[in-house]
Amino acid sequence: MSKKKITEIIIGTNNAGKLREIRDLIPKSCVISSPKNYGIKSPKENGSTFLENSLIKAKFFSKKSKKICIADDSGLEIDMLNGRPGIYSARWAGKENNFDLAISKIYSKFSKIDKNWKKRKITARFICALTIFGLKKKPIQSLGIIKGTISKKKLGNNGFGYDPIFIPNGKKKTFSQMRYLDKLKIDHRIKAFKKIKKFF
Ligand code: IMP
Repeated sequence: MSKKKITEIIIGTNNAGKLREIRDLIPKSCVISSPKNYGIKSPKENGSTFLENSLIKAKFFSKKSKKICIADDSGLEIDMLNGRPGIYSARWAGKENNFDLAISKIYSKFSKIDKNWKKRKITARFICALTIFGLKKKPIQSLGIIKGTISKKKLGNNGFGYDPIFIPNGKKKTFSQMRYLDKLKIDHRIKAFKKIKKFF
C-alpha cells in the first residue's frame, strides 16, 4: 500500500447537503473541488446496492475531472417499507428534489399498511457507502450505518433530505432538530469515513 496521503480530491456529488458534510470530514489541508467546478452533471445510478452506486459515481467523476474522487451513495431504509426508499431515496423526491413529497409518500405508504401506524415504533437506518477512485490501487470502499426510528411528523429545520423524520437511537431529536455539528459527529457518513480516513 502506498503511504502517500491524498492531498487533492473531487467530492463526487451534486447534492449540496452531502457536499457540505463530506467537505467537513476531509482534513482542511486537502484541496477540494466538486463537479460544479467543472460543470459535470451526475451519472445514471443503475447499480443495485449503495456500494455499486458509489463506485459508479466515484469512477465517473474521477475520469471526467482526472482527479482522485470520493463519492457517496446513501439513503434511508425503513423496515415497515421492506427497506424502501433505500437506494431510491433521491428518486422518491423526484426531479425537483422535493423532499416534502418524498416524506409525504412515506407517510401515505405507512397509512395504507396500517391506519394506526403512529402507535408503532417504526425502525429504520441511514446507510452511506463511500468509494475513493483514482488511486493507483483498486477502489477503496466503506460502509457506515446509523440505526433509528421514524418520527410521527416532520420536526426541525436543519439538514437535508430525510433529516426531519429520522431520530437516531439513543436521541430524542430528529437529525433536523440537532445542530449540524452534532449530526456530523454520529451519522452514517462519518461512520463510513472513519474507516477510510487513513488515506488523507
Ligand atoms: P444518492 O446517494 O445521490 O442516491 O442520494 C441519497 C439520498 O438519500 C439523498 O438525496 C438524501 O435524500 C438521502 N440522504 C442520504 N444521506 C442523508 C442524510 O444524511 N440526511 C438526510 N437524507 C439523506
